Amino acid sequence: MSELQHQTWSRLNDLEYAPAPESRDIVSIRPNYGLFIDGQFTDPGSHQGFQTINPATEAPLATVALGSAADVSRAVISARRAYDQVWSQMPGKERAKYLFRIARLIQERSRELAVVETLDNGKPIRESRDVDVPLAAAHFFYYAGWADKLEHAGFGAQPRPLGVAGQIIPWNFPLLMAAWKLAPALAAGNTCVLKPAETTPLSALILAEILQQAEIPPGVVNIVTGDGSTGAALVSHPGVDKIAFTGSTEIGRRIQRELAPSGTHVTLELGGKGANIIFEDAPLDQAIEGIIDGIFFNQGHVCCAGSRLLVQESIADEVQRRLVRRIEQLRVGDPMDKNTDVGAINSAEQLSRIHELVDAGVAEGASRYSTTCTLPDKGFWFAPTVFTEVSQTHRIAREEIFGPVLSVLTFRTPEEAVAKANNTTYGLACGVWSEKGSRTLWVAERLRAGVIWSNTYNKFDPTSPFGGVRESGFGREGGRHGLEAYLNV
Ligand code: NAP
Ligand code: MG
Repeated sequence: MSELQHQTWSRLNDLEYAPAPESRDIVSIRPNYGLFIDGQFTDPGSHQGFQTINPATEAPLATVALGSAADVSRAVISARRAYDQVWSQMPGKERAKYLFRIARLIQERSRELAVVETLDNGKPIRESRDVDVPLAAAHFFYYAGWADKLEHAGFGAQPRPLGVAGQIIPWNFPLLMAAWKLAPALAAGNTCVLKPAETTPLSALILAEILQQAEIPPGVVNIVTGDGSTGAALVSHPGVDKIAFTGSTEIGRRIQRELAPSGTHVTLELGGKGANIIFEDAPLDQAIEGIIDGIFFNQGHVCCAGSRLLVQESIADEVQRRLVRRIEQLRVGDPMDKNTDVGAINSAEQLSRIHELVDAGVAEGASRYSTTCTLPDKGFWFAPTVFTEVSQTHRIAREEIFGPVLSVLTFRTPEEAVAKANNTTYGLACGVWSEKGSRTLWVAERLRAGVIWSNTYNKFDPTSPFGGVRESGFGREGGRHGLEAYLNV
């Protein structure tokens, strides 16, 4: 860098942004929520409740019903009735109208949904506004288009739905995961019981209001909030024909073990330890942005995060130097501020898991660089962190951290890059950065992962299938493939 460039850069770094907070006024969160069963909200007073908080401030947001096994059972019975009497009988072109209506209502209420998502989850408003909510609407639009074309989807002349789908989702993309689950299931003619994550139930409850606005027939979608016990009750309910689960590998394994003898259909979208591979001929400016997006998007609470950076040795010093400079520019803080890049960690529990793994990285001898940003006093925060001198045996190279922490490893040849990338029990996503298409294809053919991005990272589109291999699970969501998980084929 020339002296002049250096001075300009230092000055830019010194510039302070004025606060640009999004207004909370657009949302009115109710103090108490019941469960959404058979088209109605139940009386919150009739349930045991739990609080959901804003992880950026630890302030309570609402009290939400803890669904019991009996509640789950009522929801399943309602879904079964709706399946038998209404939804499975309805022509696809009629089902499509409801899905289009839901998509339109998500768009109409998008600001409100974005604010609720950011308050409940801690993710930057820029991301909930520009990624989570528009993609959720896009999923409903996309699958609305399939509802009357199932016989042309390549699954036989008259593909049949499975029946009642139990759907369990995590806290990292609460509304988007609900859309990924509901849209294909409904398009294919199934009815649903959805269980949102304990720490992020609110956007699903606004979605329940949207379903009422859309006048979807009672019981077609039921939303039962609660904790792990609510999810477990859904999994073991004999009236459920299919379980679609997104979450940790540990719980996924437990679900598969429990359902193996029953014949219940299962799809599992689990964890990951994605490799982002940078060759020496990669467009470096773009690659640096791709690395940043790959691990710091959504505080690294992303199953397909590029949490292992594999850099070709000849450019490793340059990449590390640029990375350190770039992460110092990340704005960490109030998720409601439109300038914020990295928001709050979703829960105290997740924060302590990140701390544990980062401490293990230091203890095992890797070299840690955390940004010098000031973290707020209240709430759950972790400064963007990069580990160098990481070896493949370190826990930070093997275990999913699910936080804003990157582990950097190096390689010399494409063969070594592939061997290191595949040296994981997971297999969800990888990125390959190179100017040579032939090299990218050679590498991509050899990577064991469900999704491979070329010269980009974390690109999601409803038309494109997403899912893993090995301990990242099985089944695909998105695209034509996503229908298969909800059809008897
Ligand atoms: P988790 O503990 O497995 O929870 C996921 C969901 O399952 C939550 O709704 C949870 O409820 C529920 N649950 C907990 N125990 C259950 C049980 N015994 N039976 C049925 N359901 C149960 O995972 P997490 O820690 O919340 O989420 C992070 C993990 O999800 C990461 O490992 C990440 O990689 C993975 N993930 C994968 C994808 C993907 O597409 N492959 C996407 C996002 C996240 P509570 O929240 O109430 O405990
Ligand atoms: Mg919360």
